[in-house]
Amino acid sequence: MEKICVAVRVRPPVSESVDLAAAACSHWKVEDNRISLHRSLAGTPLPPALSYAFDHVFDKDSSNSSVYDLLIKDIIHAVLQGFNGTAFAYGQTSSGKTFTMNGSHNDPGIIHRAVRDIFSNTNMSTEREFLIRVSYMEIYNEEINDLFAVENQKLQIHESLERGIYVAGLREEIVNSADQVLKLIQMGEVNRHFGETNMNVRSSRSHTIFRMVIESKGKDSALDDAIRVSVLNLVDLAGSERIAKTGAGGVRLKEGKHINKSLMILGNVINKLSDGAKQRGHIPYRDSKLTRILQPALGGNAKTSIICTVAPEEVHIEETKGTLQFASRAK
Ligand code: ADP
Ligand code: MG
Repeated sequence: MEKICVAVRVRPPVSESVDLAAAACSHWKVEDNRISLHRSLAGTPLPPALSYAFDHVFDKDSSNSSVYDLLIKDIIHAVLQGFNGTAFAYGQTSSGKTFTMNGSHNDPGIIHRAVRDIFSNTNMSTEREFLIRVSYMEIYNEEINDLFAVENQKLQIHESLERGIYVAGLREEIVNSADQVLKLIQMGEVNRHFGETNMNVRSSRSHTIFRMVIESKGKDSALDDAIRVSVLNLVDLAGSERIAKTGAGGVRLKEGKHINKSLMILGNVINKLSDGAKQRGHIPYRDSKLTRILQPALGGNAKTSIICTVAPEEVHIEETKGTLQFASRAK
């Protein structure tokens, strides 16, 4: 299988005062594909463990457009050729996962760019005709909910010979244009927060998977060409912050335990996949809903990218180190 591409993105500081923001963030240094913990206390040599290299490191001035071009474009092109692809955003709450996935008005995120890219390619194709379906789901406390249909809750994962691994009852919409998909996603975003008083709370505690299934066959029926089916998953993971920091019992504690467990299992799966085929052994896909759903699109000849987002502020230094360690294990 292909190597998993691992990138880190540092979001800009969030402080009204430019000076304050700069002072609070002076310790992380980005140079080319390396991020280092830089002691402002002059003269202290850096322990090597605190400098990390990845396939790409995006600094605070990077755009979603450059993230898309360097990390996602190749996945989309592989998906159009019939391979599966998955991209994850991993990081603590407020580090920029959703910004990377969904973007802003001026700088659309990678979901938006992927959808547009796919349709501009399929619309132009003279040789093949395409059938495209999309779905959007959330995994919250190890329960799968349909973001296209609020009534579809606690869905189950099934496996069959014809369909492989699938989420039973999940709504799939057949789509013909990028605009149509983007409207559906907007609707899904509304459902994501259904019944929530604090929008950010729920979204930072669930994983969301936006999925496109692309089926195609040759237009010339004289050619006995097989139907190609490929799946693209774009995943906005739950916040990776440790439970203690959220300092809550009850519901929050339960959420935190589910999140930590599923992110740990994801880390284990990715870690095994990035080991060579020989050392790999058993891959624990079945240990979480997330990895089980993504199983067909991880490993094999699938293309995978992980973008680990980090907050630059000094208060987040421990979480940032944790994220960089996750990223290092994924390489
Ligand atoms: P997460 O989804 O990881 O919790 P968000 O994507 O919601 O974090 O980001 C937190 C805040 O920081 C939001 O207001 C978002 O618009 C802003 N932000 C994040 N990354 C960037 C970036 N690269 N450029 C500009 N603003 C960003
Ligand atoms: Mg978010």
